[in-house]
Amino acid sequence: MPLWSELTHQEFLVKSKETEVAVLVTGALEAHGKHLPLGTDSLLPAFLAKMVAEQTRALVLPEIPFGDSWVFKDYRGTISVDNNVLVRFYAEIMKSVFDHGFHYLVVINGHGGNSSALQNAAKTATERGEHVVVIINWWRDLGKKARAEVLETQEGHAAEDETSEVMHVRPDLVDMSSAEAARAEMEYMVISASYRRELYPSAIYGDPTSATPEKGEAIMDEAVQDLIDLIEKLEKGELPTKS
Ligand SMILES: [Zn+2]
Repeated sequence: MPLWSELTHQEFLVKSKETEVAVLVTGALEAHGKHLPLGTDSLLPAFLAKMVAEQTRALVLPEIPFGDSWVFKDYRGTISVDNNVLVRFYAEIMKSVFDHGFHYLVVINGHGGNSSALQNAAKTATERGEHVVVIINWWRDLGKKARAEVLETQEGHAAEDETSEVMHVRPDLVDMSSAEAARAEMEYMVISASYRRELYPSAIYGDPTSATPEKGEAIMDEAVQDLIDLIEKLEKGELPTKS
């Protein structure tokens, strides 16, 4: 139930003693084709975190809406934060969370560009004490069965998966009449500031045209359940080993 930002500091003292687990959402503000909003990578994991807050005692922090969106910098509306800044920033937040007595921090990450910064920050933040950071790259780690069942095309960026999920969570923000497929395939990893548009034409990687809200709902429902299962495990002092 508790959202960190809505508690007074006295209420926080009570609520933080009822759980070992805090939850942080890390998002991005970047182009997602012509049919999805710039905040897609924040609003999807924030939706999951809200569901978690309603169904567990874990304390949910406010989301971080900016990430490393270097590859989409050439598209209007994208705000990108340097990876090295993110490492420091995430690490400071993680350390503050642990200073309040939490044992576990679950990060629901909504954006691939944040992954390496989160890993490096977590190494620093857990250097002392017995703290644990669980990094969930949610588009890959959660709702796996539903993804395999309902998706007809490969997951990607502003592709069938993400589009379906936004159609479920915020249908008012999706313009399917502008949805188009694009996928630039490279034989090897290519990094180049000069070729960003060639590497991600239309800020899309995949085919969003077969997206439906029902597919999104199936994925999001399973993702929420995955998170609740994880938090229950952590509350018992267990790491998320595969069964
Ligand atoms: Zn995205």
